[in-house]
Amino acid sequence: MNAVRPGSPAGLREANRRRVLDAVLAAGEPTQSGIAAATGLAPATVSNIVRDLCREGRLTASTTVRDGRRVRAVRRTPPPGVVAGIDFGHRHVRVGIARAADTGRLEGGAADRLLAERACELAEAHDAGVGLDAAAALLEDALSAADVPRAELLAVGIGLPAPVDARTGAVGEPGILPGWVGIRPAAAAAERFGAPVVVDNDALLGTLAEQAWGALSGVDDGIYLKLSDGVGAGLVLGGRPYRGRAGTAGELGHVVVDDSGGPPGGAVCRCGNRGCLETWASTATVVGLLEPLLGAPLSVDEVVARARGGHAPSRRVLADTGAQVGRALGGLCSVLTPARIVVGGELAQAGELLLDPLRAALERWALPGAADGVEVTTARLGRHAHVLGAVALALDHVLATHG
Ligand SMILES: [Zn+2]
Repeated sequence: MNAVRPGSPAGLREANRRRVLDAVLAAGEPTQSGIAAATGLAPATVSNIVRDLCREGRLTASTTVRDGRRVRAVRRTPPPGVVAGIDFGHRHVRVGIARAADTGRLEGGAADRLLAERACELAEAHDAGVGLDAAAALLEDALSAADVPRAELLAVGIGLPAPVDARTGAVGEPGILPGWVGIRPAAAAAERFGAPVVVDNDALLGTLAEQAWGALSGVDDGIYLKLSDGVGAGLVLGGRPYRGRAGTAGELGHVVVDDSGGPPGGAVCRCGNRGCLETWASTATVVGLLEPLLGAPLSVDEVVARARGGHAPSRRVLADTGAQVGRALGGLCSVLTPARIVVGGELAQAGELLLDPLRAALERWALPGAADGVEVTTARLGRHAHVLGAVALALDHVLATHG
């Protein structure tokens, strides 16, 4: 044993190296001056330690852009192997795998870094076991398509369209994802996949992906909004994803926006409340409002195509949806004063047809001044956002547990 005595020069050096590694892990990709500020170590000490750790292959240095300036930053070097991301929707599952070492700086084209991607449809209100079995088959298929032995799988990240309690690992909130309630998905999935599994809410994963590789890159205070079968938000505050007390922060879809007539007003929501934003702004609501006119089944793609072609009812429905989303976001802006709001999920393809009325409502409902200068844009990673976020989550786990 080469035990290093605490307090000896070697012990101090080892403790400082650990502090630098921990600071890099906590910040993701800090600059050397950021590490010095976080650890209280002298810049020269940080510089020496970072040089040694880069030489040993434990840190990787790269050039990145912060506040419009190119700076030198470092990140933990991932071990060899692959990570998988699994994105569950109410009616689909998508699986992607990526080399852990390839998931660093992605200057656009994030999805290109996926070695393989597979997806299939699931029945609405599917049982958790059915969903996990489907995901396991897709993962097997993706690994063999990429010619990666299963032994190289380091970790799996899973995104679920429901609040996941970080304290218990359980899916809560009966009604939002009924087939999964009470299930501890990380434990159930780890058995099937034979690798460590980490689980988080899908909107939070979209946030991680857009922060790492997309429209929230370099933004310290931002909101990612997912408008799909479900409506959810992910928050970045002070440069870090914000999960709240139990890991379930961001359920903007269940903020009440329609209290017409007072309680009990508004449409009944699957969460048990009435008049939630989700009853206005989910894909099911949008197509449901137009199916009597246009015939069922109708897809969001068709609604957007019709709206672009000038179909007034389709334009009206998208505008009303944007306005209700903007109203809910207005309240959030007053509280959090974000710099950028990124709209993702299936409805984001409506682009300005949705965003223009959204911005107008944001101005209308936010505290005067709170929405000034807030940029509202569409997400950059499209349908890959949540699977990439799950990949980022798996990679975080690998880096946190790898030396
Ligand atoms: Zn609700």
